[in-house]
Amino acid sequence: MSDVVVVGGGAIGLSVAWETARRGADVTVVEQSRVGREASWAGAGFFPPGNLSGAATPIAQLRAFSHTLWADWTARLREQTGIDNGYRVCGGVIVSFDNSLDVEFQQWCAEGVSIERLTSESAREVESALTAEFCDAYHLPQLAQARNPRHLKAMRSACELAGVQFLEGCPVTGWDWAERGIIAARTAQGRVDGDQFVIAAGAWSSMLLAEAGLPVTIEPVRGQIALLQLPRPLFRHVIEVGPRYLVPRPDGRVLIGSTEERVGFVKQNTVGGVTGLLEFATSLVPELVDADVERCWSGLRPCPTRELPLIGRLPEAENTIVATGHFRSGLQMSPGTGVLVSELLTGEVTSIDLTPFDPALDESQAAIV
Ligand SMILES: Cc1cc2nc3c(=O)[nH]c(=O)nc-3n(C[C@H](O)[C@H](O)[C@H](O)COP(=O)(O)OP(=O)(O)OC[C@H]3O[C@@H](n4cnc5c(N)ncnc54)[C@H](O)[C@@H]3O)c2cc1C
Repeated sequence: MSDVVVVGGGAIGLSVAWETARRGADVTVVEQSRVGREASWAGAGFFPPGNLSGAATPIAQLRAFSHTLWADWTARLREQTGIDNGYRVCGGVIVSFDNSLDVEFQQWCAEGVSIERLTSESAREVESALTAEFCDAYHLPQLAQARNPRHLKAMRSACELAGVQFLEGCPVTGWDWAERGIIAARTAQGRVDGDQFVIAAGAWSSMLLAEAGLPVTIEPVRGQIALLQLPRPLFRHVIEVGPRYLVPRPDGRVLIGSTEERVGFVKQNTVGGVTGLLEFATSLVPELVDADVERCWSGLRPCPTRELPLIGRLPEAENTIVATGHFRSGLQMSPGTGVLVSELLTGEVTSIDLTPFDPALDESQAAIV
């Protein structure tokens, strides 16, 4: 029997498992397919900055708390596993074609994050490849990126070194109960017994939550990505326009993201989705028209019906914690979530207040960010 059974081997589940094993617990991760192959693998891997002492909203606090951990986690992963997850501070240029950046610019200033307003001239001094045809922009020098597949490989390896057991190809179909709460995860391969359980099943969490007495919806929202290849890097900042972005890798690749589509558990790329991404990319950086298209993929983001992720104990099963619903920011927020859930599991005071993330709060109660 394990001290802690984590259901779901994405960035969230692996972060919980690593941090909890580091605190001395026996941890088992149960994964329905292969570890680290769903949304966490598919994501673009860029992370806005944060400043914990100035973060005013719950989501800003979680983002900022995670921000404080990334450099240290990267160093420890490299030291323990020899794998470089590609985390680096590359900076970001946020662009608008309709003068809509005032509010978010003020929010970053109020948080105390390093930021600089750009004109179309100064923006092109920061990134000369950028089109001149936009209205407004700002520069976030502390925005960072990582290579998702490498990070997940490092996390898995670090978990194994810390003694975490993995059960792959093993979907959890329900729970066995006793008076103290859930006592085992039910799978086709038999029961997985534990003292405490963590539901970190991303876009697939609804069924497991309903079976655990919390009938909330976590909707899959598809995001398509196209990957370009250039002989040399054309630009070095992440460039963002609303929900779309370009992420330049140091090896000349450029990742174009992303769509937001509510099409159920369907992961195909579509002509409309990919064409839209390519048009977006060349309108922003015209020289990309000569790039090779290397490949496309998509992933399913876990989207809750409220604004905040669900992090906390289940009301009907006190020995079970949910950590899901991070939607577009789950990779960035995974170290913070891993630490916070481990603190809950070991009965420590949590590093930030988790009340607004309580899974039992309904939409009207969960703070709007
Ligand atoms: C195109 C795209 C771009 C993105 N870009 C970014 C970005 O730049 N920055 C950022 O921070 N975030 C980004 N995200 C969001 C981020 O990827 C997600 O929020 C994050 O990966 C969620 O992690 P997770 O561990 O909850 O889910 P997942 O990675 O999906 O992991 C859940 C795991 O649970 C397993 N599972 C499900 N049900 C069961 C079951 N019954 N039994 C056993 N196992 C089960 C699944 O197989 C899966 O492996 C992006 C997402 C997409 C799709």
